[in-house]
Amino acid sequence: MSEHRTGAPGRVKEVTSLANPLVKDIKALALKKFRDQQNAFMAEGLKLVIDALDLGWTIKTLIFAKTGLGNPAIEKVAARTVASGGDVLEVSEKVLTAITRRDNPQAVVGVFTQRFVPLKDIRPKSDDVWVALDRVRDPGNLGTVIRTVDAVGAKGVILVGETTDPFSLETVRATMGSIFAVPVAKTTPEAFLAWRKEFPGTVAGTHLKGAVDYRSVDFGSRPVLLMMGNEQQGLPDNLANACDRLLRIPQAGRADSLNLAVATGVMLFEIRRNALKL
Ligand code: SAM
Repeated sequence: MSEHRTGAPGRVKEVTSLANPLVKDIKALALKKFRDQQNAFMAEGLKLVIDALDLGWTIKTLIFAKTGLGNPAIEKVAARTVASGGDVLEVSEKVLTAITRRDNPQAVVGVFTQRFVPLKDIRPKSDDVWVALDRVRDPGNLGTVIRTVDAVGAKGVILVGETTDPFSLETVRATMGSIFAVPVAKTTPEAFLAWRKEFPGTVAGTHLKGAVDYRSVDFGSRPVLLMMGNEQQGLPDNLANACDRLLRIPQAGRADSLNLAVATGVMLFEIRRNALKL
């Protein structure tokens, strides 16, 4: 490992060996155990890293491909990383491929500190919309929901019970950067149900046996909590019973249900259309 200066103020470490301890720590972030131990996660792509810094996320390490040397945008991000106390690693293609577990990896990767919003700090007001996901299992679904929440202008996501990790590489990839824009809370069913009692608006569950067509509801201008069920089992009774209404998206054809992320998207855009009285 050698150290040198780029156009960025501060030191950049050059790393080419997979045996380097810094590289080993970053590679370990593929496993939840080590993400939790390091309270960190990885996000790929220059634009995404810039957005994350602009949104105030803490960068621990910036990793960039040798080919990025001399690129003013990368050097600027490197300077911001050093200024905020982070490390900067200039690595070989081989190291980047190993870190991202991908052929043709992005030229820039950031390692950031994880961030959850405490449930008690979520106090919905006016026409805020929050999504609660019961035991979501699939990283692609979770990432797509976070991305959709961002796109529709909803406030955030509450993960209830045992869930897939919002900071896994797969989930972060599926959010397409929205992981940095959408607050995520994580809680037990018990704590969620206690918090729900104080929810000042409509709690709308979705259920294949829902009695109400989702298009017939007037959400008004109160906050909405949209509750979505687990991919295999749907909402359990204790969560379904805590909803003001159980809504159904009518389906044609032979499919017995919609994909979780698709159903969430349909519901969120309907809630927004309804609130805006489009
Ligand atoms: N076998 C599961 C069941 O019996 O509920 C299917 C769950 S579905 C894949 C995942 C979640 O998406 C559901 O719990 C519900 O929240 C939502 N969902 C999917 N299709 C829906 C529909 N047609 N109407 C209302 N919600 C739906």
